[in-house]
Amino acid sequence: MTSQSLRPAPRVLVVEDAEPVRGLIVRALVGDGCRVTEASTAAEARAVLSESKPQVVVLDLGLPDESGLDLLGEVITGGVPVVVLTSRGEERDRVLGLELGADEYMVKPFLPRELAIRVRRAATRAGLTPTPELGGGGLVIDRGTREVSMDGSTVAVTDREFDLLVHMASSPRRVFSRDDLLRDVWRSSPDWQSAATVTEHVHRLRAKLERDPVHPTLIVTVGRAGYRFEPRRPAGEPSQPLT
Ligand code: CA
Repeated sequence: MTSQSLRPAPRVLVVEDAEPVRGLIVRALVGDGCRVTEASTAAEARAVLSESKPQVVVLDLGLPDESGLDLLGEVITGGVPVVVLTSRGEERDRVLGLELGADEYMVKPFLPRELAIRVRRAATRAGLTPTPELGGGGLVIDRGTREVSMDGSTVAVTDREFDLLVHMASSPRRVFSRDDLLRDVWRSSPDWQSAATVTEHVHRLRAKLERDPVHPTLIVTVGRAGYRFEPRRPAGEPSQPLT
């Protein structure tokens, strides 16, 4: 199982006429586990919308057949959250888009990863993709917002650290080899990338999350086999003996 498959897969309609840009958006969203339908004109988008109701629409405002703002109004009236993505950075468009009810507004050029996060956020806010929290014992891993907190304090983690943590925490006590983690979290293999990458990320997560990183109790080393996630117990309860 991969970290992506553990998360809900929102159905997203991408409306963008510029093919290279659309390709970039689609790759970012598919890579994040979304199910994507594409449209390059407002007319195509309407055809898709009449057949199926996507959970989020990513909408370019500069479409060849009409203004994306008209479509934006219709989609929002239909109750679907919209992430507006446009090259129009002017203040008035931004305000207009938000006034019409866009959930998110991104100006090109954009970071694909940021777009994927904003799409997830829009879906979660709309209550369409409930993401149960992982963790326990003071650790909260929120897959909707991709935020981690420990004992009530936010812990800043990178995207990769987050994916690694979610992957392991989703199967508590299961032992993952470094090769497993390279394959499932990095989408890589020992042929391409050194397993030391995994070790390095585990060390960083421990530094951020463990009460005593030198004697980890959360991400535990299991002999030479790899690592496992040990769910934290509420303070006061004895933890499992270390292996
Ligand atoms: Ca355009």
